[in-house]
Amino acid sequence: MNGIGMWEERWHPLRQEWVIVAAHRQNRPWIGQTVSHGAALDPVYDATCYLCPGNTRVSGQTNPAYQSVYVFDNDHPCVGIHAPEPQSAPFPFRNRRADGIARVVCFSPAHNVTLAEMSVPHITDVVGVWQQQTFDLGQRPEVNHVLCFENKGSVVGVSNPHPHGQIYATNFVFKSVEIELEASKAHWNEYGRGLLADINTAEQQDGRRLLYEDAHTVAYVPYFARYAYEVYVVPKRPVAHFHQLNADEAESLAKAIQAVTIRFDNLWQMPFPYVMALHQAPTDGSAYPFYHAFVLFQPPLRRPELLKYLAGPEIGGGNFLSDTAPEVTAAQLQETSLIHYRNRGK
Ligand SMILES: [Zn+2]
Repeated sequence: MNGIGMWEERWHPLRQEWVIVAAHRQNRPWIGQTVSHGAALDPVYDATCYLCPGNTRVSGQTNPAYQSVYVFDNDHPCVGIHAPEPQSAPFPFRNRRADGIARVVCFSPAHNVTLAEMSVPHITDVVGVWQQQTFDLGQRPEVNHVLCFENKGSVVGVSNPHPHGQIYATNFVFKSVEIELEASKAHWNEYGRGLLADINTAEQQDGRRLLYEDAHTVAYVPYFARYAYEVYVVPKRPVAHFHQLNADEAESLAKAIQAVTIRFDNLWQMPFPYVMALHQAPTDGSAYPFYHAFVLFQPPLRRPELLKYLAGPEIGGGNFLSDTAPEVTAAQLQETSLIHYRNRGK
């Protein structure tokens, strides 16, 4: 791949689709939109921020003087218990109430940090909240799936830098998880093993794309990555939901998340934008022994200040074209320090 580049198609076993890796064209000229670093440092507290402790939100509710992680019902929910009953749609269309619960999770009272700059005990608290929320919301009869996620950076539409994520507890199962369920079940039936467990093993044996490993968790840029710096953070013990992880495993997950997000930020010495989502099995009361929960980071940048555009292949056709080889981007991340650039010299 050195010099010549890589040009092939790779099968994405969890999504059951092909990814075109066309890394031989990486240096083709680019005259499109770029993304600014936005390096100005925010204050630890911002009086105009609706997520900072003690501030009043648009709903009129006031945030408590929280010390660690703080969860509240989204003031502008996309799914909610107060969603109206819609008028029925004519055949062949269907509709229904946007039932469910949307919550906001403030990761830290500090306005100006990110997960990458938080301590392992603090990130473990965030993991604990994800576990508790998944368990609690999943118990509700109208909730069939719990999606915990974080949008980070203005390029993925986040206007407020206060570190926070969201939780959508929905009456439907999100499509990506639905596709993974089908693929995992088929693999389980054919081989008698978990698909993601087999992917973990293959990544550990290859080693070129590994970013973090300890007794309980492994993280890597997968062989079939769709985004340049896509990362899977996977518990070694297969569990369908994160609340099944024990305390050691949850702490290990936090360590892996810290390592990955520090490597991201250190790559180009900038807050690295991404969409991070916890992929978990449905909470519809069925058992999913074949499903293996994991954390998926999907960063939209493929070079500093350069967005991965979704265009003809992705939006038009539904398959991804990657301009970078996962082995190359993983090597770049492996070379980064595990001390955050903002914390050096402290
Ligand atoms: Zn804030």
